[in-house]
Amino acid sequence: KKIIIAIDGFSSTGKSTIAKQLAKQLGYAYVDTGAMYRAVTFFAMQHNYVSADFLKEKELIENLKNISLKFKYNEKLKFSEMYLNDKNIEKEIRTMEVSRMVSKVAAISAVRRKLVEQQQEMGKDKGLVMDGRDIGTVVFPDAELKLFMTASAEKRATRRYKELLDKGDKVSFEEVLQNVQQRDHIDSTRKDSPLIQAEDAIEFDNSDMGLKEQFERILNITER
Ligand code: C5P
Repeated sequence: KKIIIAIDGFSSTGKSTIAKQLAKQLGYAYVDTGAMYRAVTFFAMQHNYVSADFLKEKELIENLKNISLKFKYNEKLKFSEMYLNDKNIEKEIRTMEVSRMVSKVAAISAVRRKLVEQQQEMGKDKGLVMDGRDIGTVVFPDAELKLFMTASAEKRATRRYKELLDKGDKVSFEEVLQNVQQRDHIDSTRKDSPLIQAEDAIEFDNSDMGLKEQFERILNITER
């Protein structure tokens, strides 16, 4: 029987790595909901609705109708890439600049409503692994399996820092750590759908666990 697997947790806890691997193993689709919030943020930055100093909430909300988001599977990369109005923006949404603004944009209820609706639509056929912040609590409260990933902020920032360096993004470790902590804070204190662990989610602290061990443990849980 095909099920829905919801993976939530703090920033850079390795949710997407696990989710991708799990989806591959089970032959399920994988959806990275963070990419959707990042795409809306990128749109907002392009139109000057958001910066470090301001958020033009009303203008952004009025123009949400001009945003069309799609995931398209890249056969070569074996990975679904994010498209905004038919343009591939996978690279653009992974920058530190977007990371700095995204939690502000994700706190807007109208933005969440639009994206949650689209996410629920994707779950209609089941056989889905979805990661984010509110998947087990809001998007799929009836998901058959819910995981909640945690790890120390330092461990998470270290991971993120390495990723960004590999991509040639010039950032300091301090900056990355600060961003991770700031997003944790905004995401868990916002009014609409704050980041919290669903009551029936299994907590998974991977501070001191390698990828292989994590994956084996989770697969074990999945097969129960
Ligand atoms: O998962 P990722 O780190 O790419 O998510 C970026 C940001 O998008 C999060 O920090 C959070 O503000 C927002 N987000 C959200 N709800 C989700 C997924 C992401 O609010 N389901």
